[in-house]
Amino acid sequence: MARDARYDILFEPVRIGPVTAPNRFYATPHTDGMGRGNPRSQAAFRATKAEGGWGVVCTQEVVFQLNSDCTPDPDMVLFDDRDIPHHALIADAIHAHGALAGTELVHLGLFASNRWSRETPMGPSARPTIAGDPANGVDPISARAMDKADIREFRRLHREAALRARRAGYDIVYVYASHNLSLPMHFLARRYNQRTDEYGGALENRVRLLREVLEDTKDAIGDTCAVAIRFSVDELLGPKGLEAGGEARDVVEMLAELPDLWDVNLSTWDNDSVSSRFSSEGFQEPYTSFVKRVTSKPVVGVGRFTSPDTMVSQVKRGILDLVGAARPSIADPFLPAKVREGRLDDIRECIGCNMCVATNNSKVPIRCTQNPAVGEEWRRGWHPERIAAKGSDASVLIVGGGPAGLEAARALGQRGYAVTLAEATRELGGRVGRESGLPGFSEWARVRDYRVAQLAAMTNVEVYRESRLSADDVLSFGAQHVAIATGAHWRRDGLGPSLDAPVAIEPDAPILTPDDILTGARPQGPVVIFDDDQFYMGGAIAELLARQGIAVTLATPGGSASNWTALTLDQPRVQRRLIEAGVTLRFHQTLLSVGPEAVRLACAYTGRPETVACTAAVLVTSRRPDDALYGTLAALGHDALRAKGIVSLETVGDATAPATIAACVHAGHRYARAIDARAEAGALPFDREIVTV
Ligand code: ADP
Ligand code: SF4
Repeated sequence: MARDARYDILFEPVRIGPVTAPNRFYATPHTDGMGRGNPRSQAAFRATKAEGGWGVVCTQEVVFQLNSDCTPDPDMVLFDDRDIPHHALIADAIHAHGALAGTELVHLGLFASNRWSRETPMGPSARPTIAGDPANGVDPISARAMDKADIREFRRLHREAALRARRAGYDIVYVYASHNLSLPMHFLARRYNQRTDEYGGALENRVRLLREVLEDTKDAIGDTCAVAIRFSVDELLGPKGLEAGGEARDVVEMLAELPDLWDVNLSTWDNDSVSSRFSSEGFQEPYTSFVKRVTSKPVVGVGRFTSPDTMVSQVKRGILDLVGAARPSIADPFLPAKVREGRLDDIRECIGCNMCVATNNSKVPIRCTQNPAVGEEWRRGWHPERIAAKGSDASVLIVGGGPAGLEAARALGQRGYAVTLAEATRELGGRVGRESGLPGFSEWARVRDYRVAQLAAMTNVEVYRESRLSADDVLSFGAQHVAIATGAHWRRDGLGPSLDAPVAIEPDAPILTPDDILTGARPQGPVVIFDDDQFYMGGAIAELLARQGIAVTLATPGGSASNWTALTLDQPRVQRRLIEAGVTLRFHQTLLSVGPEAVRLACAYTGRPETVACTAAVLVTSRRPDDALYGTLAALGHDALRAKGIVSLETVGDATAPATIAACVHAGHRYARAIDARAEAGALPFDREIVTV
């Protein structure tokens, strides 16, 4: 299929200093959770983006000085020449597909507490570090003020790292002043820089270190490599921080023509990678749009761009020269190729759920709700677009059309299997359809919509709605493989992570679960939500009910509302929104009992009980798999199933064990890949990167 001519502009080459990007699709630096220990995995992950058409593909940040250590965050390093092969592997893999390779050098300054290296942290002035992580908070450690020798040493090492980056093969090398994560940015910040020398005071002085590092890098490698600056044009702190209408603009004016490329964004990371619950496509434009008016150098920016029309608009209106993407390039590494080939319906749009971010914050290899192959390119050999043709002519029956069933059907259909998907209800999508009705969650429906559209185009897949299958239906259907993807339901008995046994619930106690709320049930008056799950559901239901005028108390064993969303960077916004909606928040609570007109809570530390009057209790505790159908079939035994032609029977997704939507999609995908692959006894399901000794 030919691409639409209106997208031609996206495929124009763009000159960046001494190098030329083949098109305007720019995969910006972002963490992949794989860090220094997983070079092959990283190379395969980044190469997939290059193969998918991104004209520039960048690595994650790279530290080069021992006192810039944010372990256990899985950073990449360039401490000395021994680190070059790791980077060369990645740069070569990117180049193999015709893209430019970029890397982002960073000194984390006040953000490094040097847990691994045990070096003393340093910054522009002495103060506590700002290091830590969403789960553990700040570290109890302070930084010392850098003297002139420290500044000279930092500049020398940055220059050496740039030279090593060039030797590794990178085309673009970043100087990083973003996200409140770098030394030059800490020098810029009035709140951190109380120096009285030529590096402190007026902005001309506070910008000096950033200018010097840019000049050093240009001098070292600028003849053959592009030198990019990554710069936060607003910290959303008002006059306390950099502002697009204030000092940030002044910095861009001061340094306008010095770098070869301006990569601009918002600080901190939670303002840059805002989830779809709190932002929409292109949300950074009001802040970044001034930059192109100030510099003649190319500008790249992000904004969770998944629509080629929005991308074209950004370029034509003079906002950006290069369309930056981290999350959209994770959810669909082949987005540019699909635009180029006129296959817009095949684009797997990012849903803005930030599970990718959560995996970095959990210090594990990247994963994605929409793209189950991400992070699995090397270790499992999964490609996001290609999959082996079917290994037999067997037919497959999938029971349940939630994310697990839909992805299993899609991937099996792509393999060429004859697939039947039976869904009990009129709507496909299962939990995704229901949950996307929560306030701010509408983009999550893309998990369903992408797969339903793909299935509709497959002649070898039949989808039956309003088809609740019984065990007899399954037995008489005649499929060789049966996948039970029947999902899960929220428990009514209170059992959850913090409660080992069901709580005392009086027979006439009005209990609601998230399933009830999502299908329209509403309490008649004040409600207590007990959120033991602590991810998004409890907070989202609190918001939903409060918006409808219901008095809501949200009680949780956690220390904050929707505790786990700290990992997706949502937590502060969730809590702010709940406070503003008038929700009463009760932390460190356990649930004792539920009666007809009240809930009994207790302090998790002292056990002191308390009675909270309410007309209903919403128990957001945990889910139970809907595996009765599986149980009935499995109980028949292998021989009885064989007699009906069934050679395999498995649960997939929440029906196995309830987890995230990302886990369900991954499970469905894995089922489809493994259906005809015999694992050798004792073999690990994926490869590991082994440190050679
Ligand atoms: P998952 O997240 O594992 O995909 P969901 O709960 O989202 O699970 O989806 C499970 C789907 O299975 C729901 O849409 C539900 O209606 C459907 N389902 C449950 N039992 C049956 C059944 N016996 N026959 C057909 N569909 C079923
Ligand atoms: Fe987008 Fe969610 Fe995938 Fe991250 S995990 S890339 S936010 S769909």
